[in-house]
Amino acid sequence: MEFLKTLKTSFNEGKTKPLSWRKSQLLALKRLLLENENAIYDALKADLNKCKFESYVSEYQYVLKDIKQTVKHIAKWSKPRHVGTPILAQPGRSSIRPEPYGTVLIMGAWNYPLQLVLSPMVAAIAAGNCVVLKPSELAESVSALLASLIPKYMDQDAVVVYEGGVEETTALLKQRFDYIMYTGSENVGKIVMRAASEHLTPVTLELGGKSPCIIDKNTNLKVTADRLVWGKFLNAGQTCIAPDYVLVNRSQTVPFIEALKNALEKQYGKDAQQSDDYGRIINARHFVRISDYISSQKDSVIAGGTVNEHEKYIEPTLLLNPSLSSGVMTEEIFGPVLPIIEVDSVTEAIDFINEREKPLALYMFSNDDKNIKLVTQRTSSGTLCINDAVIFMVNHNLPFGGVGHSGMGSYHGQWGFDTFSHLKPIMHRSFWADAPIRYAPYTKLKQKLFKLIAKL
Ligand code: NAD
Repeated sequence: MEFLKTLKTSFNEGKTKPLSWRKSQLLALKRLLLENENAIYDALKADLNKCKFESYVSEYQYVLKDIKQTVKHIAKWSKPRHVGTPILAQPGRSSIRPEPYGTVLIMGAWNYPLQLVLSPMVAAIAAGNCVVLKPSELAESVSALLASLIPKYMDQDAVVVYEGGVEETTALLKQRFDYIMYTGSENVGKIVMRAASEHLTPVTLELGGKSPCIIDKNTNLKVTADRLVWGKFLNAGQTCIAPDYVLVNRSQTVPFIEALKNALEKQYGKDAQQSDDYGRIINARHFVRISDYISSQKDSVIAGGTVNEHEKYIEPTLLLNPSLSSGVMTEEIFGPVLPIIEVDSVTEAIDFINEREKPLALYMFSNDDKNIKLVTQRTSSGTLCINDAVIFMVNHNLPFGGVGHSGMGSYHGQWGFDTFSHLKPIMHRSFWADAPIRYAPYTKLKQKLFKLIAKL
């Protein structure tokens, strides 16, 4: 892979380090987006039937905003961060200097095929790295578009798009990178981590899993349902942080389901297949996988359930109390099917969640501070979001990432910059006033003095 040699040379010659280069590349990416807005919408429509508004909010504008914020803060983020120095190392100065790793590999998933590669790339370039971008082959239109546009706008000696499927990616992963950020499934995450371990390459893994949603007794059901329907059925449920299933307090089941049905009709009409705003499933394999969740639990279907193979359409579907051992409750759904499980208390919901892998996102709708505190203290998740779904993604002051099986490491805003930087500690001593107290021979007096100073 000759291009890797070129990237390494660029990095070693210091091309990517000046702030001016980093900013120029971020602005080139901004130009790429601005000048190709419609082509981007067309590619997202072709791959996922993503409507213009969702494409704008969750992909196009999302990356533009990321660039804007990064360009604004890059000088501050790159500066050495001064920290105190203890008396034992005085006189001296200590600081932490962010430095780029070198050549980083960014691998994205197909569900937000633009955002999931460009947003990490913004952070990687801001931190001064060379980048190999590997878009998902399943979103083939977006992958092809990025492969044709990026070389036209960005420095080809430092940023390369590498397209391909399993075979090509397997070959790519044999190469030595200085950092890898992978977004996708847990299984491939393990493959990536195994490959990285051959070269002791550090990784950030942005994975998925089942993100639960607790509906407490005490909530505004109308707003809850509106927000939940939006977060779940956005992109036809193919969102890593979509609420996967609901744990509803039994006393709320009937009005909650009523509110969900109303919200569904309000957002997608009586027939979601006719809605311009409702997406389609990425490919036949995923269509069959999700359809099977419905057909194997058809007695639990309380709304929706219609599928159309030709269009890869799956109606927004609600299931009430499906079998806990069925696929829909043991695997990540990643589609427009929402199981609702009744529980008797928040404690029961917490136990249910804690018996499973740590989620990427955990949602809770409640007005009860005591219960909110209980969930906050007794559960672990990538993010906890109270009284809304998915929306926390817009806050780049928060790190985004998983914990346990939902991933490791994080990005967004300065968190992304720091992820792609080695935070190098530097201690700079003075030759002046070299107290011999730490040198042998370790006399009694020196030991006494040392103990006194160490306490300061
Ligand atoms: P995918 O099939 O697009 O795969 C992701 C990447 O892995 C692609 O670049 C692909 O080429 C590569 N890949 C696939 N199989 C491989 C193999 N055998 N060897 C090497 N590379 C391989 O996406 P996916 O895995 O279907 O993604 C869906 C999953 O991603 C879900 O679990 C979802 O929750 C998760 N996800 C997480 C985030 C996040 O930010 N945490 C975002 C989106 C999706």
